[in-house]
Amino acid sequence: MRQERLYRTEGIVLREMDYGEADRILTILTPTGRISALAKGIRRATSRKAGHLGLFVRANLLMARGRNLDIVTQAESLEEFEGLHQDLLRFTYACYAAELVDCLAQEEEGSAELYRLLLDGLRCFSTESDLRLWMRYFELRLLRYAGFQPELFTCLGCGQEIRPQRNYFSAVEGGFLCARCGERAPTARQVSLNAQKVLRFLQTRDAEAVGRLRLTESTHAEVEAILQGYLEYVLEREVRSAAFLRRLRAELRAGKGQQVENDEPNL
Ligand SMILES: [Zn+2]
Repeated sequence: MRQERLYRTEGIVLREMDYGEADRILTILTPTGRISALAKGIRRATSRKAGHLGLFVRANLLMARGRNLDIVTQAESLEEFEGLHQDLLRFTYACYAAELVDCLAQEEEGSAELYRLLLDGLRCFSTESDLRLWMRYFELRLLRYAGFQPELFTCLGCGQEIRPQRNYFSAVEGGFLCARCGERAPTARQVSLNAQKVLRFLQTRDAEAVGRLRLTESTHAEVEAILQGYLEYVLEREVRSAAFLRRLRAELRAGKGQQVENDEPNL
C-alpha cells in the first residue's frame, strides 16, 4: 500500500537537537506514536515555524515523509504552556516528564492515552503550585500505563491484606510488603503510614481530589523517594532529569530560600 507523502498530525515536542547550520531534529510525541522529524531553517531569525515548534509546544503539524526523517513543513501552535518557559523549576519538571514519556513511547505503536497523560502533566507543571504532588500523580499514571502499577493493598510476599501500620515497599516486587515479609527482603524500604495513605490516594483518586491534597515536607520527600526509586528500577537506569531536578532544587534552596519551592530538608 502506498503511503501519502504528506500527512497531518498533532504533536508535542519532547526533545530537540540542533542539526547543521539552521535546522533542528525534533522528537515529537503524537497520539499515534513517537516520530523524529527535521525542522528545516528553524533556527533562523526569520523562521515562521520557530514560534510554533519550541520544546513542549503542542502543535498542529503538516509533515512530509522523507527517506530517513520526516520533515515538518507547517506548524501551528495550539498550546504553548508559557509557565514552563518562565520558570526554570517548572521547565525542569517538564523535562523530567518528557524523558519518562520518551522512555515509554513506541515508534510504531501509538497511544492516545500516553499523549493525553503528557498533555495533562504539562498543563499541571505550567500552572499548579505544588509541582511535586502533580509529579507523583503523573508518575503513578505513567506506571499504570506502562503495566507497572504498584500493588498497594496486598502484601506481595504472603498475599495478606496490608494493615495500617509501618510496612515496606519493594521496587523488585513492585509494591508493598507487610512488616513480616518486608523485614526479610533486603532491598525493601520501610514506608510510614502517611506515605502509604498518600500513595493509595494518588493511585485511586481523580485529579480534582488530588488538587485538594496537602502534604507535609517529610511525606513529600518519602513518597518521592519511593516512586523515583521504583521508576528507576522499572526503567533500568537512572532518570537523568530526576538527578538534575534534585540538584537544581538544592541550589535554588541555597540561593533563594523558599521562594521557588518549600524547604525540603532531606533532598
Ligand atoms: Zn506479607
